[in-house]
Amino acid sequence: MSVPVFRFAPSPNGFLHLGHAYSALLNSSLAAKYQGRFLLRIEDTDGSRARSEFVTAIFEDLAWIGLEWERPVRIQSEHFADYEASLAQLRKIGAIYPCFCSRRHVQANALAARDPDGQPLYGGTCRLLPRPVAERRIAGGDAHGWRLDMASLGDNAAAVWGDAMIAKRTVGSSYHVAVVTDDALQGITHVVRGRDIEPATPLHMLLQRLLGLPTPQYQHHDLIKGADGRKLSKSEGSTALRQLRSEGMAPSEIRQILGFP
Ligand code: GLU
Repeated sequence: MSVPVFRFAPSPNGFLHLGHAYSALLNSSLAAKYQGRFLLRIEDTDGSRARSEFVTAIFEDLAWIGLEWERPVRIQSEHFADYEASLAQLRKIGAIYPCFCSRRHVQANALAARDPDGQPLYGGTCRLLPRPVAERRIAGGDAHGWRLDMASLGDNAAAVWGDAMIAKRTVGSSYHVAVVTDDALQGITHVVRGRDIEPATPLHMLLQRLLGLPTPQYQHHDLIKGADGRKLSKSEGSTALRQLRSEGMAPSEIRQILGFP
């Protein structure tokens, strides 16, 4: 029998707050309950937002609330080759096409509907590019990202995400490809994450199907709300773990507030 494997996978774009602590404690306690493993993964593929000081802070803050995780920690920015291999496979089966559109062109030619990230659905300009033309542009060094060819894939995620961008022009990969690749490489059996990411799950399941990867069990937990009833954000300092620590709160109090022993 294989043991269940849980993970907490923050993006180091800010300091962790009570919502992150809840998610991390939940995964860790489920791992303990089912005699499984608990991994921590740093999701820093977006170099324009990720900062190393936040990575250091993640380790400090999680250790402070009493969590333990396996080492070494997988740091996504050290594994772009793995995400490129997934993209190569998607290219090989014709599931994605290159997109050369500028941001402005995408906005001007978008469909009326918006995706769960609030971006308008892509109008499809580059889907219509003949393949030799696209290949010539790539060979000529034209900057491009990669989009899922939803029309040919016939998947439920199409209506919600349209031709989702899965490799950005600037980054070369995306959160979606990296998360799916790593969950499989690390043998994650249970993905327990916030309801804010739930809309991305059908997209992740589609990528798993296309890449021939196992689909973990998904569970989406409620979000911890601020005093104003709104979702906590990383830019809000008030519930940041280090802020609470500097105000003298003890780790045991944090755990108690969040409902953990
Ligand atoms: N890195 C994502 C975030 O911090 C979470 C990804 C996931 O749990 O699948 O929002």
